[in-house]
Amino acid sequence: MSSSPQNELHKELKSAVAELCRSFPDAYWRDLDAKRAYPEEFVQALTQAGYMATLIPEEYGGAGLGVTEAATILEEVHRSGGNAAACHAQMYIMGTLLRHGSEEQKKQYLPSLARGELRLQAFGVSEPTTGSDTTQMKTLAQRKGDKYVVKGQKIWISRAEHSDLMLLVARTTPVEHVKKRSEGLSVLLVDLRNAPGLTIRPIRTMMNHATTEVFFDDVEVPAENLIGREGQGFRYLLDGLNAERILIASECIGDGRWFLERACRYAQQRIVFGRAIGQNQGIQFPLARAYANVEAAALMVAHAAQLFDSQQPCGAQANMAKLLAADASWESANAAVQTHGGFGFAEEYDIERKFRETRLYQVAPVSTNLILAYIAEHVLGLPRSY
Ligand SMILES: Cc1cc2nc3c(=O)[nH]c(=O)nc-3n(C[C@H](O)[C@H](O)[C@H](O)COP(=O)(O)OP(=O)(O)OC[C@H]3O[C@@H](n4cnc5c(N)ncnc54)[C@H](O)[C@@H]3O)c2cc1C
Repeated sequence: MSSSPQNELHKELKSAVAELCRSFPDAYWRDLDAKRAYPEEFVQALTQAGYMATLIPEEYGGAGLGVTEAATILEEVHRSGGNAAACHAQMYIMGTLLRHGSEEQKKQYLPSLARGELRLQAFGVSEPTTGSDTTQMKTLAQRKGDKYVVKGQKIWISRAEHSDLMLLVARTTPVEHVKKRSEGLSVLLVDLRNAPGLTIRPIRTMMNHATTEVFFDDVEVPAENLIGREGQGFRYLLDGLNAERILIASECIGDGRWFLERACRYAQQRIVFGRAIGQNQGIQFPLARAYANVEAAALMVAHAAQLFDSQQPCGAQANMAKLLAADASWESANAAVQTHGGFGFAEEYDIERKFRETRLYQVAPVSTNLILAYIAEHVLGLPRSY
């Protein structure tokens, strides 16, 4: 079978990203994990190589490629043992600006993002008292003359300390004053470099993730930083979620493949009772099953990405891709720990680190239950459960 130009491009991308990742071996990630430190050099390298600008159209200085290519890049980072969570958000956050921003805003921000001079890494949605019920968010952005004054609190805002801008979703009309709860939300671009009244506090988590809580105490944001129309923010938010889900799913596929490669290598080498442990079906079968599930999930990720890139509806496929890929990576992680026995818990084997990292995707950016509720309601036509 002859390879299409697109397949060739993906092969080239994969091997170029793999080459870049070889400069950031296990020890690099292990050391940062112990210190809970940000992978500054890795993010710089990815940015300088132009990968962070994959989805930015060529007219604004980016590569003008699709979610399929962005997914190829992120998958390879994870397959190499790294973690793209330190910077992946810029790829999909930028989409809100691209789809709903004014031409002036796009010209102002996209070329600098593409050149790596500006970082748009922070996405402010989650709030401590709201949880998955996003429309109940309370952070208020009140219009006063030519600015918005923002008051409230966000939580789990990753990379806020390593970003110049934050895409903030806030209420411009309190929930009591709207007909539908999804109305009255707006998207603002907050310049984190110049925001008196803003406090960012890091949250130490079970893995190295640079996440924070952010307090807004009458933070002033110029009205010209509103993206799209006031009150339409929920629609813009939903619009960006499919790309986010597909890209996170691709990272899970990379994790799954990394776990299986490491586990199979170890299963060949570890001799117990005079034979390789990989000769036992009790070791083989969980790995074989996890492999089948990773490969099946990868097909769904590719399918969702292809629909997204051809501008077709892909809500169901993006959600299923995220669900299946997160399950498959978690299954692979579990099988890898079991295969490694006690060494699965030793830091120097990196299995326990990746195990902690991949666990996140059962919860964020959307929890497994909420995806199941989406499929039940929107695909199967069952009554809404929440
Ligand atoms: C490390 C990390 C990084 C994150 N980064 C960001 C970020 O950059 N920006 C951002 O805005 N957010 C971020 N998040 C937040 C993340 O999106 C939320 O944690 C996630 O959406 C779940 O919301 P919650 O934690 O409030 O859980 P809750 O909504 O309180 O849910 C708790 C549990 O209850 C279940 N549940 C809730 N309602 C239902 C229901 N109706 N039916 C069945 N089960 C239900 C959920 O599935 C979950 O298992 C991050 C979170 C983490 C942990």
